[in-house]
Amino acid sequence: MHASSRPVVSGAMIFYSEFDDYAAWRDAMQARLPDLRMVHGSEAHDPASIHYALAWKAPQGFFDRMKNLRLIVNLGAGVDSLVGREDLPAGVPITRITDPNMARMMAGYVLFATLRYARDIPYFEAAQRRGEWAYRHPRSPEDVRVAVLGLGELGACAAQELRRQGLTVLGWSRSPRNIEGVECHSGMESLDTVLSRADILVVMLPLTPQTRGLLDRERLQRLPRGAALINVARGALVDQTALNDLLRSGHLGGATLDVFEREPLPAGDPLWAMDNVLITPHLASVAIPASAAGQIADNILRVSQGLEPANRVDPARGY
Ligand code: NDP
Repeated sequence: MHASSRPVVSGAMIFYSEFDDYAAWRDAMQARLPDLRMVHGSEAHDPASIHYALAWKAPQGFFDRMKNLRLIVNLGAGVDSLVGREDLPAGVPITRITDPNMARMMAGYVLFATLRYARDIPYFEAAQRRGEWAYRHPRSPEDVRVAVLGLGELGACAAQELRRQGLTVLGWSRSPRNIEGVECHSGMESLDTVLSRADILVVMLPLTPQTRGLLDRERLQRLPRGAALINVARGALVDQTALNDLLRSGHLGGATLDVFEREPLPAGDPLWAMDNVLITPHLASVAIPASAAGQIADNILRVSQGLEPANRVDPARGY
């Protein structure tokens, strides 16, 4: 675009994340919007000059006094740490990143974790530790039933990838969805049936008032004995005490956990010592500056022209 016809972006964008690379985001944003002034949350700034925020898990009070805030971009997909906060100016739109690369990265993690169970890899890992050649005939992929809870941007992509592997895939969402090759269910009335048929359960739901604690003891017990749980969504969706008990009793055969009620998972938590648990520190997928900066820039331009931003979160729905 010719410099003179370029829309002028007023105000600054503030950045906050303990995990993401500020310089990479600043450069990616400024490559698209050269007029955009970026400021890191730790730098001195006038709160009134902040019009846009790009933030991941900003501490409470972070947005205090940013009275000219026009757009908050959640630096990721899960917006539970932003919705309902008291330090946000009323009505300021919250948007999330929806990026095919982020979905692909998540699908890669889910695929790895699911196939690890579908191919009995934990069994062979244990046999190797004992120095044992323990032949177990592979199951046919379609004999392995995987249930994906949450068929949104990330869940639908993962369900499709799993299906591509020939696994039998069930999906569950709030409203009816249609994904080729996936047996889709929706609504609370179908949850128990989906759970009772899952050899591997993949949790990809947002954390909302409706989903908090959804996988309680009773629902986890509906899974067939020996089922595996993969949680890449949020720890608080699952009753962690029940999870510990069921992993210990063998009702759950194993778990791959990327998210926890308390993060970092405290030292000494019983999960750390369980042989049938694989723990990763909340990184199943991340936002990638080069591929997500474009949609953030578009939204800044939309908001500065008085238009509705894309990918807006519905605070009433919580996602
Ligand atoms: P979306 O908002 O795109 O989709 C959410 C899905 O969950 C939709 O299918 C929705 O149903 C369904 N859902 C929401 N509430 C309910 C409910 N009460 N009952 C049944 N289904 C429900 O989310 P994404 O796919 O983008 O992401 C999912 C979650 O993954 C994020 O919220 C985040 O917590 C987590 N995440 C984790 C990461 C990690 O690194 N571990 C990285 C990124 C995200 P419907 O289709 O009807 O709307």
